[in-house]
Amino acid sequence: MRSLDWTTKGSKGEIYECCVKIIDETKTIYFLKCTCWNFVNCRIEKSGYFSDIKYFSTPCKHLRPVVEALEKQGYILKKPKPMEGTDKCTPELRRKLIQRAQGLCECGCGKPGKEVHRKIAKTNGGKYNESNCVLLNTECHRAITFQKWQGTPGAKNE
Ligand SMILES: [Zn+2]
Ligand SMILES: [Zn+2]
Repeated sequence: MRSLDWTTKGSKGEIYECCVKIIDETKTIYFLKCTCWNFVNCRIEKSGYFSDIKYFSTPCKHLRPVVEALEKQGYILKKPKPMEGTDKCTPELRRKLIQRAQGLCECGCGKPGKEVHRKIAKTNGGKYNESNCVLLNTECHRAITFQKWQGTPGAKNE
């Protein structure tokens, strides 16, 4: 395992910290990080139980030359496995979730659970399956969605 760390300057003189982690034995690039806006925007950090994680596998322009040089040497950029599950909530899944939650909102508020929420969102490859879904009350669902996006880099202003 090796960690390649360097800093690079942006167009306005700002400093970005870059990191690429590799495994020489298996020729794998398994971790990418850059503190630039472009990279951060596309990667939503885990910030709680109902958070959203995007597994980043596309290098930004600061990481690209290093990744490309490694790829020329035969290294392979590890891609996240697609999540198993469906794109639409099935009646079976809904039934299982209701059973698991005993009909209540899984945030713990005690209100009835009504909506199925994907912890990892569709845009980030999240599917409908038991581990990625929670049963939520309509109000809590709205609050969690709002909380999730608010203050997050790349947040949509609704
Ligand atoms: Zn970058
Ligand atoms: Zn709740």
